[in-house]
Amino acid sequence: MLSEVSTVAGTDQIAMQQQITEVSFADGIYTVTTPELSRQCQSLVIASGGLSLPNLGATAFGYQLAEQFGLKVLPLRAALVPLTWQPADKAVFEEISGVSLPVTAEANGTLFPEDMLFTHRGLSGPAFLQISSYWQPGDNVIVNMAPQTDLVAYLVSQQQAHPEQEVKTALGKLLPKRLVEKLLELQVFTNQPLKALNPKSIQQIADSLHGYIFKPNGTEGYRTAEVTIGGVDTDYLSSKTMEAKQQPGLYFIGEVVDVTGWLGGYNFQWAWASGWVAGQYC
Ligand SMILES: Cc1cc2nc3c(=O)[nH]c(=O)nc-3n(C[C@H](O)[C@H](O)[C@H](O)COP(=O)(O)OP(=O)(O)OC[C@H]3O[C@@H](n4cnc5c(N)ncnc54)[C@H](O)[C@@H]3O)c2cc1C
Repeated sequence: MLSEVSTVAGTDQIAMQQQITEVSFADGIYTVTTPELSRQCQSLVIASGGLSLPNLGATAFGYQLAEQFGLKVLPLRAALVPLTWQPADKAVFEEISGVSLPVTAEANGTLFPEDMLFTHRGLSGPAFLQISSYWQPGDNVIVNMAPQTDLVAYLVSQQQAHPEQEVKTALGKLLPKRLVEKLLELQVFTNQPLKALNPKSIQQIADSLHGYIFKPNGTEGYRTAEVTIGGVDTDYLSSKTMEAKQQPGLYFIGEVVDVTGWLGGYNFQWAWASGWVAGQYC
């Protein structure tokens, strides 16, 4: 939130560590109030962020202020956040917490080729942080555990080269061995010499691993989320200045606005770029 307030008289003052509790507007002037002080200004830039990490000071203040001045706030939810296990999956997979592998993770038609990480609570790593922005409660996440390998061709070639080799040994050359043990436990495949596999069973193993279905229970929520999806509707803001279209002098920038980026610095970039833009006009 604003820690810098320009007074109407034009003298700049910086007030740090102030929890803004109220903003009022009359005769073209905003009055910003904290428990310790009150400041007035003609331009007010709201940079109050999202709801992520409440223990670091995140609040819903900016959303409430937007609504106070008649701006629409689109539904909020945690994103860039690990997804959590269903109890049955937790019982199986929490033992391999720390295992990671390159995958593609897909939900609602969006796919990310990134690393996936098993944790005590669920699935994380870039693949799952990214897909969490597209996942909705009840959705599956389809994981290709060997996106770079045609598993049918791989298993056939292994079968020809090493007919006595067990399936789990062959898969263990491609995937983390602790994961392969879990997949065996879940009967994703039956362990037997490769020579015992017929084309149908090879296809079944390949299909299972190329399209493994996880059904997450939920997300870790704002406690660990890097961003908040939703926020001040961009339709209510000038894309040139970030000023509220129907509330002169009131600007919204950064994460409080309904703009959410992928992993990779895009959210910082948005916060800085939108702040710079507002700074040209406010
Ligand atoms: C753990 C974590 C990792 C992240 N990693 C990345 C990353 O690698 N790359 C990337 O692009 N983005 C990342 N993000 C997201 C990025 O930090 C935010 O998008 C960005 O900081 C938003 O900037 P902002 O200025 O809009 O809000 P913030 O940086 O959230 O600042 C808002 C400030 O307003 C204060 N505030 C709230 N209410 C009040 C009030 N009533 N009175 C006074 N002050 C108030 C808050 O305490 C906070 O200090 C990460 C976020 C988290 C939580």
